Amino acid sequence: MNEFSELDFINKMYEEDIDFDRHFDETLVNKMNWFVSVSGGLDSTALAIICSRDKKWKYIFADTGDEFPQVHEHLDKMESVLAINIIRVKNEQTLGEYELEKKFFPSPRARFCTRMFKIEPIERYLEQFKPFKLAIGIRADEDRKSNIADYAIYPLMEHGIGKCDVVTLCQEKGLIPQYPWYMSRGGCYSCFFKSKNELLGLAKYEPELFDKLIERENAVQDKRKKHYAMFEHLHRRPLGTVKKIAEEQEQIEMFEEGGRYAAECGVFCRK
Ligand code: SF4
Repeated sequence: MNEFSELDFINKMYEEDIDFDRHFDETLVNKMNWFVSVSGGLDSTALAIICSRDKKWKYIFADTGDEFPQVHEHLDKMESVLAINIIRVKNEQTLGEYELEKKFFPSPRARFCTRMFKIEPIERYLEQFKPFKLAIGIRADEDRKSNIADYAIYPLMEHGIGKCDVVTLCQEKGLIPQYPWYMSRGGCYSCFFKSKNELLGLAKYEPELFDKLIERENAVQDKRKKHYAMFEHLHRRPLGTVKKIAEEQEQIEMFEEGGRYAAECGVFCRK
């Protein structure tokens, strides 16, 4: 499917007026409060674009305190382009404050951050709007669990909306999320899912944010015998060392620059 037929498909979907409520009793639909969970990523942005055609939807975003500034800029832009209001909620503490208090970092095995700093603040806020449904942007072509809670609905999944569709929708509205270029996706800047290269990029291009992480990591060290690393996949290297590696890498690149051609010739001789 090329880009134009993809766009035609999306437009057709608009015209047909997607019936997200089709599973619910009509009286319940009228009583129901309808929310969209916005993360600042591509999928939830596409979901918000679709839902913004119907005034019944409200939009909610949970701030962990570790969001990239680009996420806040994107939410502001969504509000202005789609003429919507995004409710911002957060936990009483930020993720960073909680880590310092408990001297504990989230990890793939202890993923309390999503529950405490994303899901629970949203649930607490929505409690006052019972009955409610919360639309979550999981695409049809994703292999992810879809049973988060009874209140959750998955319109993209149910309507067969995949990656091409969400990109097309966001492109059409000028709402492709702008992550820092060295990050392959959004999420907290402290996220344990960040790759080594993403972390080196953060150290190099956002030294102030990275210094905050170094401070946080240093502050949770206690009587544990080994260094307690914020990022397990760095083989227990302290973040201070990662910053030095990033700085050394930068110096090497500085010297390399003068010794190599600024531009590549391309496929013919590959100089
Ligand atoms: S982006 Fe990463 S650190 Fe932030 S809440 Fe999600 S899993 Fe946790």
